[in-house]
Amino acid sequence: MAKHLFAIFGNPVSHSKSPLMHNLAFKGLGLDGCYNRYRLENGEALRKTFFALGLKGINITVPHKEHAYNACDVLDDFAKKVEAVNTIVEKEGKLYGYNTDAPGFLKAIGEFDNIKTVLFLGAGGTAQSTAVILKEAGYDVTILNRSAPRLEKFAKEGFKTAMFESFTPKAYDLVVNMTSAGLEDESLPAPQSILDAVIPEAKACVDVIYGKETPFLKLAKTHGKPTKDGSDMLLYQGIIAFEHFTGHRFDFEQIKHHMQKAFEL
Ligand code: NDP
Repeated sequence: MAKHLFAIFGNPVSHSKSPLMHNLAFKGLGLDGCYNRYRLENGEALRKTFFALGLKGINITVPHKEHAYNACDVLDDFAKKVEAVNTIVEKEGKLYGYNTDAPGFLKAIGEFDNIKTVLFLGAGGTAQSTAVILKEAGYDVTILNRSAPRLEKFAKEGFKTAMFESFTPKAYDLVVNMTSAGLEDESLPAPQSILDAVIPEAKACVDVIYGKETPFLKLAKTHGKPTKDGSDMLLYQGIIAFEHFTGHRFDFEQIKHHMQKAFEL
């Protein structure tokens, strides 16, 4: 591979682990690639900025995943379906868009056995793409959110949905915090009474937030449940993005071997 430049676009973007993850993989696999971070203020300028910086590929984080979707010339089937792109690769002047968050999440929960029913707390962009891939993989997903507007799309797509007031707790194999509650504060993603009803019935609890133990995961631990934060999702979406960046020349485990070192530093 000739020297290719990559970046993560987001705002804010200073906290991102992606440069470290991808640069470790480039170095470890002997590739001449370099991955930076770029704080993009105006999402409308994503395409112009991509070409102005002479990039080969980017990842896109909050709040630009819809802009990334609109900036692409070609979308893979799954990205088209969920209308969210977090990985773009340039090929012969065209921008190809992919969503690797959802397959990353699917892979991350694969370590839990006998999971069939899943309760999502939250109905944002990440919940949208992951709910679709879980449904396609045969999971039965219910979406619980604090407010109504974002639930409409899920209901149209055939998901069971509820708001806190209308929710009747039952047993779910997996309970997932898909909200940003706990990211920069100490809040729970749903009223404690609901969590105290569903967590004891669950086989495991997962949070998409990484880098800290959220109040949700702390509560799950007090109920003695196996837990997992968002680190593996982050790692796996990065590995799948790297596969796209490098034209699928390396297999998942080869990339993982190098990229996972970012989580030991
Ligand atoms: P969005 O802004 O699209 O959606 C946020 C969701 O969280 C909405 O459903 C919102 O409810 C709900 N919410 C926010 N705050 C609270 C609160 N205090 N209590 C209850 N509900 C709340 O966010 P994203 O989907 O983009 O991101 C969600 C999370 O996923 C973030 O924490 C992000 O860091 C994480 N993430 C992790 C990744 C990883 O690789 N590990 C990858 C991508 C995202 P409402 O509709 O009522 O506003």
